[in-house]
Amino acid sequence: MLSTMQDVPLTVTRILHHGMTIHGKSQVTTWTGEPEPHRRTFAEIGTRATQLANALRDELGVDGDQRVATLMWNNAEHVEAYLAIPSMGAVLHTLNLRLPPEQLAWIVNHADDKAVIVNGSLLPLLVPLLPHLPSIEHVVVAGPGDRSALAGITPRVLEYEELIAGRPTTFDWPELDERQAAAMCYTSGTTGDPKGVVYSHRSIYLHSMQVNMTESMGLTDKDTTLVVVPQFHVNAWGLPHATFMSGVNMLMPDRFLQPAPLADMIERERPTHAAAVPTIWQGLLAEVTANPRDLTSMANVTIGGAACPPSLMEAYDKLGVRLCHAWGMTETSPLGTMAHPPAGLSDEEQWPYRVTQGRFPAGVEARLVGPGGEHLPWDGESAGELEVRGPWIAAAYYGGSDGEHLRPEDKFSEDGWLKTGDVGVISTDGFLTLTDRAKDVIKSGGEWISSVELENALMAHPDVAEAAVVAVPDEKWGERPLATVVLKEGVTGTDYEALKAFLAESGIAKWQLPERWSVIPAVPKTSVGKFDKKVIRKQYAEGELDVTQL
Ligand code: ADP
Repeated sequence: MLSTMQDVPLTVTRILHHGMTIHGKSQVTTWTGEPEPHRRTFAEIGTRATQLANALRDELGVDGDQRVATLMWNNAEHVEAYLAIPSMGAVLHTLNLRLPPEQLAWIVNHADDKAVIVNGSLLPLLVPLLPHLPSIEHVVVAGPGDRSALAGITPRVLEYEELIAGRPTTFDWPELDERQAAAMCYTSGTTGDPKGVVYSHRSIYLHSMQVNMTESMGLTDKDTTLVVVPQFHVNAWGLPHATFMSGVNMLMPDRFLQPAPLADMIERERPTHAAAVPTIWQGLLAEVTANPRDLTSMANVTIGGAACPPSLMEAYDKLGVRLCHAWGMTETSPLGTMAHPPAGLSDEEQWPYRVTQGRFPAGVEARLVGPGGEHLPWDGESAGELEVRGPWIAAAYYGGSDGEHLRPEDKFSEDGWLKTGDVGVISTDGFLTLTDRAKDVIKSGGEWISSVELENALMAHPDVAEAAVVAVPDEKWGERPLATVVLKEGVTGTDYEALKAFLAESGIAKWQLPERWSVIPAVPKTSVGKFDKKVIRKQYAEGELDVTQL
């Protein structure tokens, strides 16, 4: 028997309408570096998104599922693009402005982007690339920044504000199939070419609902979220769409992502929530330690994208800011797990749950797979590769305009689950603890050493600002850990023996203790601010590190 229920497609258009009407008074505040930030209501954003859709259709000729790229910071105009482009049936393609130029060009060409909306401050990055981007017919420039580099370029140049001014404030929004493409995002391609993940209207809608659930970020129109995670990094973890669904106010840092302006923003605008990778929180901590600011408005902060060192969580607890650990990937939209402890526990009992990657929501099914393909029990001990499936999890990668979608064997199981490449255990009550990425695990004499565990333990040492541990070749054991450490400001001289003893005291087994050590000025970071361990491995292989062997 079929149900008797209506079959209304779940689309971004519905999110747009809902946000601009029911939550019309909620606001997007964009930091400008001037004394006053810029404020725009959801009603205004929705109207301007409608005008943008009209402009893209009538002036740029954007039609069907053509791709419109954005090369932008987090700001109000970027939110308008997030709503307008998918709602008109086109595909929003967010470009990561920290990628190497050649990779950026590859991605634009692969996605066959017809137009790009770019922030004026990012023109120095875009303009030199344009001769290599034959599909780009229009460049739409938004926000401040010198325009002189645009003189003489081939694509047509339009000013965002002039383009949308006076356009109709209604649009004949198409009735879309909810499975249609709405947005796309390429993984950063640490190995091989970047891979395009294409989100559907349905996946965005369902993911947005999950983001808002109390067991996830739990945000309402009484909240303001500081969206530090870039809109080009997995759609800012889904926040721009989720906030429009629930009327959550957004505080957007634009290009002011350095610790000092972030601390100022928090003190002045008093957001109740924020989302960012651990590197941002490390930087902010150093800033407020040196120049104290009041961060206490942020009762609830989502931290993810890389493992959060427990020492960082503790430091923020002392500042009255509770970090909640989350795990996800570009392929998972990205919300996969969040670490809210189960009910009825004391603070002390909650701690072991808070430091895990968290629990799976109803939309995400998980399983652990051992080296022989066997499914492992959830016993908190059996470690295997995490595989997931669900309505906001990728089933394939974009195969280009002429090709079919790609399902590489190392990424998707035969029965359609996503192989995450992350290794970990799941407790009997469903909490995931990741010990490593499969490619970062240290395989020493047939046993595995978790680089993350060593890093977390090292970062708890008072002299250590950051630590990254990588596998290096070893004649006897196959691989051994190399510990690279960044010292806190003002710390001089390193006693590696003392650091090793500290690791042993914090419970690391003797055979796992690193014998190779190096102090480095900073841990190299990827385009989205994660530790870039392949750079450290390369530096080691090429003899560029000053290594002490104990
Ligand atoms: P990239 O692969 O380019 O880093 P993603 O942003 O999609 O792009 O990264 C997803 C990966 O980030 C996950 O597979 C996992 O290895 C790591 N990750 C994300 N969140 C966490 C977390 N809370 N703890 C540990 N690792 C995490």
